[in-house]
This record gives sequence, C-alpha cells and structure tokens, in this order.
Amino acid sequence: MCQLDYDGPSFSAIRTVRARKEYTCGECGLPIVVGESHEYVSGKWDGYFDAFRTCSRCVAARRWLEVVCHGWLYGGVDVDIREHAEEMYGGWPLGIVANAMRNRWKRHDGRLFMVAEIRKLVNLSIKITKAEEKAVA
Ligand SMILES: [Zn+2]
Ligand SMILES: [Zn+2]
Repeated sequence: MCQLDYDGPSFSAIRTVRARKEYTCGECGLPIVVGESHEYVSGKWDGYFDAFRTCSRCVAARRWLEVVCHGWLYGGVDVDIREHAEEMYGGWPLGIVANAMRNRWKRHDGRLFMVAEIRKLVNLSIKITKAEEKAVA
C-alpha cells in the first residue's frame, strides 16, 4: 500500500518559485504556465541529481501522503493517492481527489479544480482517516 519503502533524497532543497517559462508538473502533467507559483525541488536520489516541479494543486493533494503516510515518491503521487483511495482509505474526499488528479484536475464542466477546493477535500479526508485510525486502535 504505502510507498514508504522508497528511499528519500540524501539531500534536497525545496523552494516555491514562479515559472519563468512554461514547465510541466511532474505529478499531474498539466502545464505550469509562465508566472505560476509552484514547487521546485532539487536533490540527490540514489546518488543521482534530479529536480522536480510540482504544481500547487498537486502540492495540496500530496499533503495527504505527507500527513497520513509520512512520505511520498516524486512522480508517484498520483498512483499512490489512487491506490489508497481504491483501498478505501481516506473516505469519499480522497476518492474525489484521486479522480480529479487522474483527470488532470479537470471537472466535469471542464473547469479546473481550485487549490482551495483540493485543500478542503484533503483536510476532510485526513480528519476521516485519523478518526478511523482511532476507532481501530
Ligand atoms: Zn499510506
Ligand atoms: Zn500537478
């Protein structure tokens, strides 16, 4: 279930930056347009230097893995969240987040999910998950 067995970077630097040219989000594949605020991380994984850019929607979604699973794999957030949702973790809000991310954050009406909406769903899902963990313990 968890992808926690993956090694994290031996070092990394995370910065929030504005795009000076168009990039692609390493998680959802949506373009990060010029001027858009996003996360840039560079570091060394398994002895190799690498860098990832993550859009603010995916950063908001990734917080679920950060809080519940205490880690994530760059480029694997989509799959990880979907697997948790399919295993019925996180309640209905995580299901919505997983589907939305798979649709590259597009709603049925074609508009994109807003970061604030994703944050709200993630917070709700974390609450549900914690309550379930407490009930099991
Ligand atoms: Zn997990
Ligand atoms: Zn993204």
